[in-house]
Amino acid sequence: MDMLTTVVDHPLVAHKLTALRDTQTGSPVFRQLADDLTTLLGYEALRAITVEPWQVQTPVGTADGVRLARPVPLIVPILRAGIGMLDALARLLPEADIGFVGLVRDEETLVASTYATRLPADLTGRTTFVLDPMLATGGSMETGIRMLLDRGAAAVTAICLLAAPEGLARLDGKFPAGCPVHVVTACVDSRLNDKGYILPGLGDAGDRLFGVI
Ligand code: URA
Repeated sequence: MDMLTTVVDHPLVAHKLTALRDTQTGSPVFRQLADDLTTLLGYEALRAITVEPWQVQTPVGTADGVRLARPVPLIVPILRAGIGMLDALARLLPEADIGFVGLVRDEETLVASTYATRLPADLTGRTTFVLDPMLATGGSMETGIRMLLDRGAAAVTAICLLAAPEGLARLDGKFPAGCPVHVVTACVDSRLNDKGYILPGLGDAGDRLFGVI
């Protein structure tokens, strides 16, 4: 696999992911765990941000530091489940702008279609982060990443709580080495079932975050 993929190997991530998977975990705790995991994965994913030299005065001297480079990054949660990851990343990166992409997949064909888009027309030079808890077939993520690259994004980092090998392989095929695409996840599970769910996975992330509606 040539696409840059980071599986965050950390006992705290593994511990929280295990609790997230558990059917006994109800929505309030599930939401908190998804938020915690996004913070932990976000720390790794945010290595992609660009900074520029910046000097500040401390009470006793001058410190050479950095500040976020302009244009500021863009965070894009994929509706609906990606909303469960938004607060955590926006807390880490409060200066970022936030766009939205609404995608729904047909449960028969597993093909994703777009029902909402709110993105800047021009993303030239911008670092972008796409949030979707589950990288399953990779259809939604491929569409989301394509929208950002087509608008000129300099880099796209997909943050997913869980990934399936099938989804990673699809993105790898669509965005080969040289494409500025990076996936950060807590775990790569074994496979998809015939309904496109990740095994062992955690079920439907949107339902577990927000209820079955
Ligand atoms: N979407 C989910 O919410 N769960 C899966 O396992 C796959 C896609």
